[in-house]
Amino acid sequence: MNDRMTAPPITGAPLSCEVLIVGGGPVGLALACELGSRDVSCIVADEKAGFHEHPRATFLGPRAMEYFRAWGIDRLVLEHAVPADYRPDVAFTETLAGAELGRLRFPTIREMIDRTPETLRTYPQLSWSRFGKVVIGQSHLEPVLFDASEQFACVRNLKGVRVVAFEESSAAVSVVAEEKSGKRLAITARYVVGCDGGRSAIRERLGASLEGIGEVGRSVNTYFDCPGLLQAIGKEPAAIYWSLRPNATGAILAVDGHRKWVFSRHLLPHETFSEDQHPSASILAALGVNVPLTVLSSWFWIPRQLVSTSYGSGRIYLAGDSAHLMSPTGGYGLNTGLGDAVNLGWKLAAVLKGWGHPALLSTYEQERRPMAVRASKEATDNRAFTREILKTGALLLDESTRAPALAFIERTMHRHGKHFDGNGIYLGDRYDHSPIVVDDDSPQIPWDAEVYVPISKPGNRLPAHWLDPSATTHDVCGRDFTLITRNPAATQPLQQAFAQRGIPLKVTPLEGNAHGMGPAHLLVRPDGIVAWKGRSFQDPAEVAMRVSGFQLSAQATAHQDSPSPKTKALS
Ligand SMILES: Cc1cc2nc3c(=O)[nH]c(=O)nc-3n(C[C@H](O)[C@H](O)[C@H](O)COP(=O)(O)OP(=O)(O)OC[C@H]3O[C@@H](n4cnc5c(N)ncnc54)[C@H](O)[C@@H]3O)c2cc1C
Repeated sequence: MNDRMTAPPITGAPLSCEVLIVGGGPVGLALACELGSRDVSCIVADEKAGFHEHPRATFLGPRAMEYFRAWGIDRLVLEHAVPADYRPDVAFTETLAGAELGRLRFPTIREMIDRTPETLRTYPQLSWSRFGKVVIGQSHLEPVLFDASEQFACVRNLKGVRVVAFEESSAAVSVVAEEKSGKRLAITARYVVGCDGGRSAIRERLGASLEGIGEVGRSVNTYFDCPGLLQAIGKEPAAIYWSLRPNATGAILAVDGHRKWVFSRHLLPHETFSEDQHPSASILAALGVNVPLTVLSSWFWIPRQLVSTSYGSGRIYLAGDSAHLMSPTGGYGLNTGLGDAVNLGWKLAAVLKGWGHPALLSTYEQERRPMAVRASKEATDNRAFTREILKTGALLLDESTRAPALAFIERTMHRHGKHFDGNGIYLGDRYDHSPIVVDDDSPQIPWDAEVYVPISKPGNRLPAHWLDPSATTHDVCGRDFTLITRNPAATQPLQQAFAQRGIPLKVTPLEGNAHGMGPAHLLVRPDGIVAWKGRSFQDPAEVAMRVSGFQLSAQATAHQDSPSPKTKALS
């Protein structure tokens, strides 16, 4: 534990920025891109000198790709994903080289881009977004996000720098960080965001605890190099091959579509993890064929369903795994973290630019925490479903139980689209009870983890309707608030109300009602969420006050006065 009293003295002039991001994992880097694209100066301090080599996440949802498009890096991310023609299916096998028991099909990147009528008929989920699910190793994504963040002159990355203490005052946060050499530096920031992962010291020192289920399974995650895998198993490509082979149950996941793979071994309840068992033995058992491979890294870990009781307050917030942990079954963890980064990013920018009231920041937890609770529960549910399928592996080996086991797999597999393409989770964030959304009292559609229903009810993501072969409704939105309108001449009252508060607003005329807009005017937030919609502007000043957080001023006073500043040393 670092003790500020006995540690070496701080050398050099203090660094300063508007936002200090603690942790340069994918969520910290995404927040840097979001803030950088809004011209907010930030420093990302990451204790690691390089990048994480072990790819944890391999699935990005369409919403994540939409965020990347807003930062201008969607094409770049696709270039680092699996090859455009690699089919990201989910295949269930006895062993990878053995019988294939079933396959769920998904569109390739090329099909996603080309969007032929046949592709759209086969994969209706592509009508919900410009993007579908994308397979890319987190280890491949992180350098892309790092380089993207460096493109913004206002972003500075400090690698190999660990944040060890902070002290919050009414005006700023004073932070102490430490290089590997032991050299200490001081950083002053208006806000600090802890993107410091599951073991977040920032969360701990904020006094927040984790709520939920501490163990929802046990896994061994092994990253390996095996250029001959696809040829050796003799099967069509897939993003996930499930192995039902007893004592080698789990998923072999494509990382680059060529030679890098991960074996996510799911230990069944009766199995124990033995440190002395070499991971390549269980990989070869799952493959069911002898093929040269090299284990690159391997660890035993416990998936959890935990959400932080607090997402922060005042000048210090949490985002990503520091705020929530979930089983990877479904691929929701990073996707949820990216949603946090975008939600918090525009609010911080609004407050720092002066057109958002600091109370806006209190809506971050109100809006994002329920999304993490929901996603983490679905991830656990997926894990339970997986366990049921994996348990049938033993039954397949016995002739008397094989037929019913096969029938069970066939039935169950098709019922769990949300596990492998959970678009309700990816695209279905909804904040209709948020105090900065003006609800229109129209009925909310029931939420479903798999199926996303495009609706423009305030609090939901603006549906992506194609306006012409190259542009969707998302492409005509600006980076700040956008008023999409069928009657531009009538928008003066709202434009005036926004101008009076200095809230940036782009007005986008759209003809006709073919875009699911409903009434004449639709106000979209900087994060693509519908904030208000209506036929006329009865109280435009109230709308402007509401969406910029000024109506929440009572709560905000507490933040501005900051009666009990936090002083913390991180362990
Ligand atoms: C096996 C597995 C598979 C997964 N698959 C998927 C998937 O397919 N899709 C998906 O969406 N999610 C998936 N996830 C979840 C995903 O990996 C995480 O949600 C994601 O890594 C969270 O990113 P983060 O930036 O919040 O945290 P992290 O990636 O943990 O990064 C935290 C960073 O903070 C730094 N740090 C910590 N403390 C300090 C400090 N005091 N000072 C400075 N730096 C500090 C660390 O060095 C690290 O770089 C998976 C997870 C696992 C384990």
